[in-house]
Amino acid sequence: MKKITKGLLGLILTIGLAACGNGGTDTDSSGEVGDNSDKIGVVATNSILADMIYNITGDAVDLHSIVPVGTDPHEFEPLPVDIAKSTDADIVFYNGLNLETGGNGWFVKLMESSKKVEGEDYFVASTGVEPFYLTTTGETTNQDPHAWLDIQNGITYVKNMTEVLIEKDSKNKELYTKNSEDYIEKLEELDARAKSQFNDLPEEKKLLVTSEGAFKYFSHAYGLEGAFIWEINTENQGTPEQMTQIIDKINATEVPVLFVETSVDPRTMERVSKETGIEIYSKIFTDSVAKKGEPGDSYYDMLEWNLEKIHEGLETDRK
Ligand SMILES: [Zn+2]
Repeated sequence: MKKITKGLLGLILTIGLAACGNGGTDTDSSGEVGDNSDKIGVVATNSILADMIYNITGDAVDLHSIVPVGTDPHEFEPLPVDIAKSTDADIVFYNGLNLETGGNGWFVKLMESSKKVEGEDYFVASTGVEPFYLTTTGETTNQDPHAWLDIQNGITYVKNMTEVLIEKDSKNKELYTKNSEDYIEKLEELDARAKSQFNDLPEEKKLLVTSEGAFKYFSHAYGLEGAFIWEINTENQGTPEQMTQIIDKINATEVPVLFVETSVDPRTMERVSKETGIEIYSKIFTDSVAKKGEPGDSYYDMLEWNLEKIHEGLETDRK
């Protein structure tokens, strides 16, 4: 949490405890540009959002990411540090679209215990994204959360978060605007390059097989069809029915390779590979960036990795 300036301290004491939760927003307008203690506190629910935020703000905010790298963000138990950081934060960003609020609904509970209010303290990053829906849960009202795997949606996230950051931390408006524009330009270039690459793939090879059905947005963006063992990580994973379905699907196609995500247990896809005799070409990223220093350790790098590996793998011939 930022330090409260002396002038405001008296004011807050008179307002009482109730003001403490959002007292931070008031200190922003009081200035003190360039003082590290004036950094606003920003919390992101996962490493992908956190990396996007880092690209907008650099070190100008005190940034905390809740779900650790490589961990499933669908179901999570926040640690005491997450509760403390969320309570102190000026802004909390979450993905929405059924990600942190599906399954055990950990995010809703966290916001309640941190006394945060939607639209004032915590904000959904995916506003404006056209949602896809889960299909195998029996209902058609549950949104598929993995919108960020389509770069155009990622750009929407960046724009939404930039807007909130500027509103809450107006002294850094110029910095955030410039960084955000540069970052979006980079993402646009990667998107355009990927789209032209995937156009070249023969139709019969345009099938992307993964463990979780996390690639709806991605497949739609790059003209592929997606196939999966389970649709979302909050489901049972690798049931006999799911296994039969995916193996039949694979055997009915010419798909040359399979993929496995970094944030799931790889053993189920390894069983599919054994049963079908089709190799797992590469790990790919869905719900988390890679560990710092490894390939894919940023949103941009994980996208670039996915696009390259998936394209490369699908170009090969079945062994
Ligand atoms: Zn997922």
